[in-house]
Amino acid sequence: MSIYIDPAVALSLRGYEMPERLGFGTAMAPVMFRAVCQDGCWSNGELIPYEPLSVDPAAKVLHYAQSCFEGMKAYRTGEGIALFRPEKNAERMAYSAKRLCMPPVPESLFLDGVRTVAAYCANLVPGNSGESLYLRPFLIGTQADLTVSASTSYEFYVIASPSEAYHSGNMRLWVEREDARAAVGGTGDAKVGGNYAGSLLSIGRLKERGYDQSLWLNPADRSSVDELSGMNFFAVIDGALHTPALNGSILEGITRFSLIDLARNLGYKVVEGTIHIDELLGQVASGTCTEAFACGTAAIISPISVIGDDGGSYKLSQVPGPVAQHLRQALLDIQEGRVEDHFNWMLSVETVEV
Ligand SMILES: *Cc1c(COP(=O)(O)O)cnc(C)c1O
Repeated sequence: MSIYIDPAVALSLRGYEMPERLGFGTAMAPVMFRAVCQDGCWSNGELIPYEPLSVDPAAKVLHYAQSCFEGMKAYRTGEGIALFRPEKNAERMAYSAKRLCMPPVPESLFLDGVRTVAAYCANLVPGNSGESLYLRPFLIGTQADLTVSASTSYEFYVIASPSEAYHSGNMRLWVEREDARAAVGGTGDAKVGGNYAGSLLSIGRLKERGYDQSLWLNPADRSSVDELSGMNFFAVIDGALHTPALNGSILEGITRFSLIDLARNLGYKVVEGTIHIDELLGQVASGTCTEAFACGTAAIISPISVIGDDGGSYKLSQVPGPVAQHLRQALLDIQEGRVEDHFNWMLSVETVEV
């Protein structure tokens, strides 16, 4: 499909000044990609200046949360700009959309969107290791109608944010035994905004206790580990990597399955199974579990220093641990083009000068 490039895009990009302090996801690129869907028919995509959206106050997204999103990065590699497994994001967003009864964005349109934004914003991809252009594709239901039914109209956007390395530091987790992030049969395995809204109260509570992130338990058994609010969970137990198996309430992270492949390739034993929280805390206390970390696109790998529970606080012995550091560096080396991409994970982007 052909992509319309608004002539005003060149002016927006030429006038753009990189902020002195980037932060993560706070400074926005001056352009965005848009496509609309009416009654199941997608328009061609267009690249336009970044601007506020005009949304009807009765739009379904505002009342019934028909909204899903993705998070991915454009990296500066030795040769140019590249995206990490963008077809996986396209696939996941289609899955999330279907769960909310929204029309999936066709893979070709999704890839047009992220590639076009990355191509035109090539000069906005910062160059230090760990920095990137964070891309945020999202899809919303825009029909103005308060009846509870799927929207007949949708808008797909890709916005971008030049970002510094996301340092969450050494994270202190709190075992969340009251609230649940997801429900059995619910939307836990779809990347939808509502899951995040439902997690905020828990985070507010644990911050008061001096912790950073909730460790969510499986909503069915309330005793095995699922994941964090926006990152998947790994522990090193007896030298092997353990991560909760997908169970319908865990969001399948692209970082998660990439790390599983990478770790196996590097000779680690990886176990996808059930991690009972009480067993895990015992293994941390006894030193059998030496390290734990969370993974996701933003931070890649964040080491966990402490897991707190009503019974006490359990300190990990190695923070950051050698396995976390090894995997983080190995993945970043592929993403930033320092080693050969044996897995064929990177998609290079032909950049456009304006
Ligand atoms: C996005 C997300 C992740 C991480 O997924 P990546 O594809 O690795 O960035 C993990 N858990 C939840 C709940 C998420 O929304």
